[in-house]
Amino acid sequence: MSNLAINNAPNKIRLLPDLVINKIAAGEVIERPAAVIRELVDNSVDAGAKDIALYIIEGGKQLIRVVDDGCGMSPEDALLAFERHATSKLQNVNDLESISTKGFRGEALASIAAVAKVRLKTKTLDQALATEVRIEGGKLIKVEQVSGNLGTEIEILNLFFNTPARKKFLKAESTEEKKIKQWLASYAYAHPQIRFRLFCDSRESLNISPKSDFFERARLILKQPAMEVKAEFDRIKIQGLLTHPSMAQAQSSSLTILVNHRLVQDRMILRAVKEGYDSTLKSFEIPYGVISIELPADQVDVNVHPQKSEVRFVASQSVFVAVRQAVLLAIKNFKSPQNSQSSDFVSQKQYQNVAVQSSNNFLNLREAAPAFQNKSENMSPSFGQNHTANQRQVALPVATSNPINSSAEITNQSNKFAFHYTDLNYIGQVLTCYLVFEHEFKMYIIDMHAAHERVNYNLIRKSFENKNLTQQALIIPITIELGYEGVDRCLKSIEIFNQFGFEIEAFGETTLIIRQVPSIITPSIANQLIKEIAANDLEHSQSGKFVEIIDHICARLACHASMRSGKVINRAEVQALLAQLDETELAGACPHGRPVIVEFNATQIENWFGRDR
Ligand code: ADP
Ligand code: MG
Repeated sequence: MSNLAINNAPNKIRLLPDLVINKIAAGEVIERPAAVIRELVDNSVDAGAKDIALYIIEGGKQLIRVVDDGCGMSPEDALLAFERHATSKLQNVNDLESISTKGFRGEALASIAAVAKVRLKTKTLDQALATEVRIEGGKLIKVEQVSGNLGTEIEILNLFFNTPARKKFLKAESTEEKKIKQWLASYAYAHPQIRFRLFCDSRESLNISPKSDFFERARLILKQPAMEVKAEFDRIKIQGLLTHPSMAQAQSSSLTILVNHRLVQDRMILRAVKEGYDSTLKSFEIPYGVISIELPADQVDVNVHPQKSEVRFVASQSVFVAVRQAVLLAIKNFKSPQNSQSSDFVSQKQYQNVAVQSSNNFLNLREAAPAFQNKSENMSPSFGQNHTANQRQVALPVATSNPINSSAEITNQSNKFAFHYTDLNYIGQVLTCYLVFEHEFKMYIIDMHAAHERVNYNLIRKSFENKNLTQQALIIPITIELGYEGVDRCLKSIEIFNQFGFEIEAFGETTLIIRQVPSIITPSIANQLIKEIAANDLEHSQSGKFVEIIDHICARLACHASMRSGKVINRAEVQALLAQLDETELAGACPHGRPVIVEFNATQIENWFGRDR
C-alpha cells in the first residue's frame, strides 16, 4: 500500500452529534412545508384534538402555525418532546406491532427544531399556566410559564434558515400552498370528527367541518355525485366514495387511499380500485374519490416508511380481491345521470391541462366550507348533486353473486339507486346524436351512440365469457388485403378471432379471407373491423394482457354494432334502448368511460335565463 493511500485515509470513526443527526433526519422526514405540517397535524390528532387550525405564511416557508385543542404537554414533556427518539407513543417493541397512533418514531419535533426557529406553547388540563419553549436550530433559547389555553400551539419560523441548500429546493409559494391544501383535504377524510381549518396569509382557504361518519365527511369534501362503497370481507372493512368514471384523471392524487385511517400511497390498492372500475377507464386514468380500508393492526405493517406513507399487508392478495370486489359491486349500480355541472368539469378535464384539473378540485373544496353548503341547501332543497345519492336510496336488486369467496360476507346496502331509464319521457332527437328527455323537473340528455355502445359491449362481453356468441356464415366470403405483417399477426391470434365468431384463413401471403363473422355486426363492416383489430388491438398483444386484448375487441365490436350519429331513431327504438339500459350494468358510462346520460335540473336551467326562484 502506498503512502498516499495512508495520508488520505479517513479520520477515525466518531459518533455524530445529535444535532447533526437531527439535521440529516430533517432532510428525510421534512423535506418541505407540507411534510412539517403533516408531522405537526399527526401530533395534534394523536393528542386527541377535535379542532385543528393551520396558519401558513408564504406557503409555509416563512411561518407554519398549528393550533390544537388536544391534551397538551406538561412542562417536562414540553422539553423532552424535542429530544431525539422522544415519544410518548411507543413503550416497547411489541407496541410496534399494534401501533394505532400517527407518530411513534419520536423524531419529528427534534428534526424540525434542528432546521428552524420553533416556539411551542402548551398546557394540560391540570396545569394552571402554559409552558412556552423557544428553540432555534436545535438550541434551547428560552423556557417560561405563560398564560394560555388547553392544548398546543406550535410555530415554525423560517424553515431551513440554517441549511440554505435545503431551502433552495423549496418550490414557489403557491406550489407549496397547493401541496398543503391538497394534503389537508385528503387527510380530512381520515378523521371525520375533527374540524380542520387552513389559513394562507390570513385568508381562510379551507374549513372542513366535523361530521359524525366517514360518508358524510367524504361527501362534504368530494362535492360530486358519487357511489358509496361499503363492504366487509372477513376482517377487511372497505368504505369509499367514488365518482363517475368520466371524472377520472391522469394523476395519482385523484384517488385518496386510507389504510387504518392513515393516508397512504399504495399501488396495489390503486390497481384493485382501477380493476373494480372494470371496463370504464383508460389505462392511464385514476378514479376520483376516496377509498378507506380497515383491518386488524397485526395484518398490516405501517413501519416501513419514514414518512409512514407506505404500508405492507400480511395477506395482500385478500386485500386486493376485497377492494376490487367492493368497488365492482358499487360501480355496477352507478346508473344515475351525471349532473351537467360535473360534466362541465369533465369537458374541462379533457381540454385543459393537469394543473387546471387540480385547482378545480380546490374550487370544490372551497365550496365545502359550511357556510356555503348551508346556503345552497336553503336555496333549493332539490339541488346539489350529492343529494341524488340519498334521494335515490330506494330498493333495487343488489348483485347477489359473490364470485370470489363464498365465505366472504358482503354488506352492500347503500347502493340502491332507483333511477330507471324507462321512467323518462322522450321529447326528441337533437344535433343528430342526442336524445332529450324530461322527468320530475329535470331534463336529461342521452348520447345515443354511447348508450347503445354500452349495451352492446356488455352483451358481447357476457356472450364471450359464456362462449355463446353467435356467428353468421357469409354467402360470399370477404377478402382483405393486410400485408405480410398484418396477415401474420392475425394468424398468430386466430384462436381469439375464432372465439369471437370470426372464421378467417390466409389467402396467399398478404390476403385474409373471412368466411364467418359474429352475428352482432353487419357483414359489410367486417373488412374495416378486422383491419382495425389487426392494426391496433393485436399490436398490443405482445405487451398487453390477454384480457385487455379481449376488452379492446369487445369494445370495437360494440362500437361498430351501435347506432351511429345521424341515424333517425323512432319512439319504439328509444323505448327499447331505455329498457336495455335499465338492464345493463355500468349503464352510466360507455366502455370508454364517457357519460351516457347528463342531467340538468330546473334550477340550473332557470339560472341560464337569469331567473331566481
Ligand atoms: P412522535 O409523534 O413520533 O412521538 P414527535 O417528535 O412528533 O414524535 O413528538 C414527540 C412527542 O411530543 C410526542 O410523542 C408527544 O408526546 C408530544 N407531542 C408532540 N406534539 C404534541 C401535541 N400537539 N399535543 C400533545 N403532545 C404532543
Ligand atoms: Mg409525531
